[in-house]
Amino acid sequence: MKKVLILGSTGSIGVNALNVIRKFPDKFEVVGLTVNSNISVLKEQIDEFHPEFVVVKDEQKAKEFSQILNSEVEIFSGESGLIKVAQSKDFDILIGAMVGFAGLIPTLEAIKRGKRIALANKETLVVAGEIVTRLVAENGSEIIPVDSEHSAIYQCLIGENLKEVEKLILTASGGPFLNKDKSVFDNVTVDEALNHPNWKMGSKITIDSATMMNKGLEVIEAHWLFGLPFDKIDVVIHPQSIIHSMVQFVDGSIKAQMGLPDMKLPIQYALSFPERFENDFVRTDLPLINNLTFFEPDFDKFECLKLAYQVLETGGTAPCILNAANEVAVDKFLKGLIKFSDIPKFINTALNKIENHSNPDIETIIECDKLTRKFVNTLN
Ligand code: NAD
Ligand code: MG
Repeated sequence: MKKVLILGSTGSIGVNALNVIRKFPDKFEVVGLTVNSNISVLKEQIDEFHPEFVVVKDEQKAKEFSQILNSEVEIFSGESGLIKVAQSKDFDILIGAMVGFAGLIPTLEAIKRGKRIALANKETLVVAGEIVTRLVAENGSEIIPVDSEHSAIYQCLIGENLKEVEKLILTASGGPFLNKDKSVFDNVTVDEALNHPNWKMGSKITIDSATMMNKGLEVIEAHWLFGLPFDKIDVVIHPQSIIHSMVQFVDGSIKAQMGLPDMKLPIQYALSFPERFENDFVRTDLPLINNLTFFEPDFDKFECLKLAYQVLETGGTAPCILNAANEVAVDKFLKGLIKFSDIPKFINTALNKIENHSNPDIETIIECDKLTRKFVNTLN
């Protein structure tokens, strides 16, 4: 029986993780759940999964919650609560399902204790990949990717020698604007950008998919997970999202992992690895899917993808600046304050304005994140 702590249990990945865990009551036990502020959904999750402890990040909501909750569960609050449970509570697997930079510090605390990290929160690797991977190695921790592309690559690499990999090929759906001209990016609405063709996800990653920043973040994530340089990580547009990613070897052979666009499978794999558990999820019906197509990405249209490759090449705090600027810009776009086309502009401005630090320690990264947010908040 593995004890599981889910950071971000009320989000799209968190809820799907609970959908997986519900199917395997003899294999996994939920010991902890954390949320930002959604206490009504948290209440339902507590009633069903009976965790020992929860964290409500929002202090006010945490107070409210402690007054209405009549169960044994221990309640923590604030960022300090997140850090405390990651540092001191008993669990075997942390599911990193929080969105954004906020997931970094609690995840690092679990890594320092040698835990398994089932990682969806790609921003953690984007902003601090060097520190995260070093601490994983030093503490006997392990990261099993939940992101579907990286889960695919992880599965393709089983039994292979990393030295014999020629390149990684990340597939991208292309998002809702794949077939739109760049000229419309000044006028697309929030609803249009949130209308992803294949995946139902949280709003931040859905906008990232529309700008293709999501694929850019995934290139950086792949670099840290698999240790390959940026020029050995390719992106190919594959609108059907059936091939989740591929590995090409030095002899030209390509291995691909396939499945329906459903996060339950990569979540389950990150929990069950190195085993595979039998399940009753819907199977991939290839004749029904009928055709799989592939295109080159358009780097001029999707500037965010180009910027992500650039910051990976630059290194230092450049990926942290890119991530923080993107988080603020996406938030502003979702609130209707800026245009869709402003997102890459703001990121570019931040990258030009904010000083890059090489080999940053964690304090430098936290400082850089704060500084970038403050700066991008002044842009309009
Ligand atoms: P979401 O917005 O649906 O959920 C985010 C969760 O984190 C919620 O439970 C929320 O309460 C919590 N949270 C948000 N901000 C917080 C904060 N500041 N402090 C504490 N908790 C906070 O997001 P999602 O779509 O589930 O994505 C989560 C992560 O997984 C992201 O990093 C995303 O890139 C990655 N991911 C998601 C998918 C997907 O299908 N949704 C696929 C691959 C990777
Ligand atoms: Mg992905």
